[in-house]
Formats: sequence, structure tokens, C-alpha cells
Amino acid sequence: MRKVLLHACCAPCAAYPVNLLKNEGYEPVVYFYNPNIFPKDEHDLRLDEIIKYSKKESFALVYEPYSPDDFENIARGLENEPEKGKRCEKCILLRLNKTAQKACELKIKYFTSALTISPHKISKMIFEAGEFAAKSSGIEFLKYDFKKRDGFKIAQQIARQNNMYKQNYCGCKYSIRANEQQS
Ligand code: SF4
Repeated sequence: MRKVLLHACCAPCAAYPVNLLKNEGYEPVVYFYNPNIFPKDEHDLRLDEIIKYSKKESFALVYEPYSPDDFENIARGLENEPEKGKRCEKCILLRLNKTAQKACELKIKYFTSALTISPHKISKMIFEAGEFAAKSSGIEFLKYDFKKRDGFKIAQQIARQNNMYKQNYCGCKYSIRANEQQS
């Protein structure tokens, strides 16, 4: 079976893409590298949830230790950018570049991202980052727009059925602020 490294930021976002990829004949290996998540407790909570779900659903999971400096370095000067702006572009590229590198290291020929499941993310931005990361690594980025065909709705249902922890902000400290301003 063809393996694909699926970057994911949390269990609710990973669950539906894992199912879809399996149905399409891939063997997904989930990759959790999210130095953007703030604070560390939140990072660890999302990681624990995805570890639990990977055991329940028997899929492979690879994860990295928390490395907030990776994110701080690329976000410097972009603190006041709105969500979906330049900070997000860099944040997504950071995570997909690392995913591509990890796929090469693991000898996995394909990678993709569960980030496209979110209605708050621009799929085109994710595809461009994925293709850029693919170019420098020589492997293939699969352009799955997971929110299509009711993907987001199904993901919400799976999260509810499994009683998953669901955060109410994207991940970085700036997205906590944006969420507070909206509520
Ligand atoms: S809002 Fe989300 S995608 Fe944008 S920089 Fe923050 S964590 Fe990254």
C-alpha cells in the first residue's frame, strides 16, 4: 500500500482525512509538528488526543517535541497580521517544509495536510506551500481539499462521537487574541 505522510494539527482535523486516505488506497502516517501552538499545555493536550485516537484507530503517528522557537522565528514582525494573512502563510510553509523533510527521512513518497479541512483556512495557500515544499524535497504533495464533500461536517461528527477535545482557536497566541475579539 502507498504510504502518505499526513500533517495534522489535532485529532478532530486528522480523523476524516485518515479515513478518506485509507478509502483511496493509501496508508496514512500522521505527522504532528506544530510549534505554532501556544501555550505548551495546549500543544500537549492536542498531542495527547491524537495519540489516543491513533491507538484507537490503529494508524501510525510520528510526532516532534515542542519547539516554539521555530514558530517565533518565522512570526517575528508579523504579529499584527490577520488570520489568513502573511503570518499564516509562513506558519503553514514552516510545517509543510518540515513534513516534506520528514517524509524523505522516512522514505515516504507522498505527503499532504489535514489543514485544508478547516473552513478558516484558504486551501490555495496550503496547496502553494505544499507544492513549494515538494519542489525542494523531490517528493509529491497530494492536493486534497478535505473540507469538500462535507468533510468539515463529517469531521465534527467524528469528533463528537469520540468525545474528542476540540480547541476554539487556531493555535498561536495571536489567534487566541483574534478569537477573543470576535466573541
Ligand atoms: S492563526 Fe493559525 S495558521 Fe495562522 S499563524 Fe496562527 S497558528 Fe499559524
